[in-house]
Amino acid sequence: MSAETKFRLTYATMYNPPDELHTRFEEEVNKIRANLGQDYAMFIDGQDRFVDEKFEKRSPINTDQLLGTFQKGSAQDANDALAAARKAAKTWNRMPWQDRVALVHKAADIIDERVFQIGAVISLEVGKNRMEALADAAESADLMRYAAIQMEENDGFVVKMEKDPLEGYDATNYSVLKPYGVWVVISPFNFPAALTGGPVGAALVAGNTVVMKPATDTPWTSRLLAECFRDAGFPNGVVNYVTGPGSTLGQALIDNPEVDGITFTGSYDVGMNIYKSFAASQYPRPLILEMGGKNPAIISRNADLERAVQGVYRSAFGLQGQKCSAASRLLVEEQIYDEFLSKLTEVTKGLNLGDPTEKENFLGPVTNEAGYNDFKTFSEELSDAGEIVTGGKVRVDGDYGKGYYCEPTIAKNVPMDHRLWKYEMFLPITMIHKVSSLDEAMEIANDVDYGLTAGFYGNNEEAKWFFENIEAGVTYANRPQGATTGAWPGFQPFGGWKGSGSTGKNAGGHYYVQEYMHEQINTTIE
Ligand code: NAD
Repeated sequence: MSAETKFRLTYATMYNPPDELHTRFEEEVNKIRANLGQDYAMFIDGQDRFVDEKFEKRSPINTDQLLGTFQKGSAQDANDALAAARKAAKTWNRMPWQDRVALVHKAADIIDERVFQIGAVISLEVGKNRMEALADAAESADLMRYAAIQMEENDGFVVKMEKDPLEGYDATNYSVLKPYGVWVVISPFNFPAALTGGPVGAALVAGNTVVMKPATDTPWTSRLLAECFRDAGFPNGVVNYVTGPGSTLGQALIDNPEVDGITFTGSYDVGMNIYKSFAASQYPRPLILEMGGKNPAIISRNADLERAVQGVYRSAFGLQGQKCSAASRLLVEEQIYDEFLSKLTEVTKGLNLGDPTEKENFLGPVTNEAGYNDFKTFSEELSDAGEIVTGGKVRVDGDYGKGYYCEPTIAKNVPMDHRLWKYEMFLPITMIHKVSSLDEAMEIANDVDYGLTAGFYGNNEEAKWFFENIEAGVTYANRPQGATTGAWPGFQPFGGWKGSGSTGKNAGGHYYVQEYMHEQINTTIE
């Protein structure tokens, strides 16, 4: 991250940052708070675009705070952005890959330079605590860089193949990966930098032009990213940014035949609808879906309980449980169930909930009113069906009343056929269950439609068994930094199995940037 420090911020290192990170973050938050309420444009074909209809973005920390107004883009704006991307693709697709890679590196460097500004906006916009927010911004640059480096290390994915065994002719065969053309990136609210910048960076490195559409809860962060791409000097139309509702502007992007490929990150329901509607076209086109999770953590009787508690609370309640990788199901062997639960409860009760821009707060508000209302409904449902061990309430006293503050919540004794064992709540709620064996835990762990992340605490032999049997794309054993969360490009490429993802290849890994290209064989006979 910053040039002055050797410290490298990731979701695993963020628990011990140098002081400099705190002071620079605070300076940025103060600067931004003094200048709220501006009107932010879309960015189409190299130009800012303002339209008559706007939507307000208020902070979940305090809904009296208007962060800014954003453009309520229409289907026409979506189509204009795609037309600009199509026009720009003619030259961008054919540009030497080295030039594209250089521009993506430049954009990543600009994000690094602005990491405190972007992090401060994420904190205000999403409600992330300061380290989570800074890491989201830093991850977007690292994801872009990872795709660029993959391209460099693979020499642009131009591979000389063997010669055909021809008599009297000399054949030269090359396999070349080439861009598809125009790519759409639709991102969720919870990682507005990483899950916008990452796919956009990979699509660009691969040679596609891009239209990016953030969630309506998080238009500001993506505007800042669009500015980083603009300032890196991408030609007009190569990176476009549109804002507006998913159901209108988003759907217009999906329905437009100009689109050659899509990366969607978001919920299972929306993702599966896109999967179906994108298939209704003349021919198949690539669709990278990254969807939800219902991630288990299995705790064996041989676990180091301190470590398990630390990993579990971080993954269950980090970002208020609004991570696709959140630990939402805890399966604990009966021998240590009581001790584990009592330790976890104690730590959970001690977590600070409040303004996430303040250093001492681990949890901020949930990001939107729908989540806040869901929290009340789910808490009631869980308390009726089982028992709330701690939490279960929203905070409304004093300043809390102006934001969406939900207590970190543990529910026990909920019957295993209850719907919430399989439903992604996406809130600071985790459910715990006593198992009589690890085999029983594994059966429950795999008995969901999702397969994103999973965690395990136990001895080494058990950990090996866990890796062999668990059905998930990102799995961890004995990790205090997070039972199921905290993947970082290059270390833990991120993606899911089953209903959690469509490609079986993880972002920020060896096989990712290739998904944005199709193969062409060039055979020449002398
Ligand atoms: P969401 O599905 O509600 O929205 C995601 C995006 O899709 C938003 O930009 C939204 O505007 C857009 N959208 C909605 N309807 C659309 C339509 N008809 N056409 C086109 N676009 C449309 O998800 P969310 O609430 O923003 O994010 C939370 C979800 O994302 C959770 O389910 C979480 O697990 C998932 N997620 C997955 C990953 C992963 O890597 N697998 C990462 C982060 C979040």
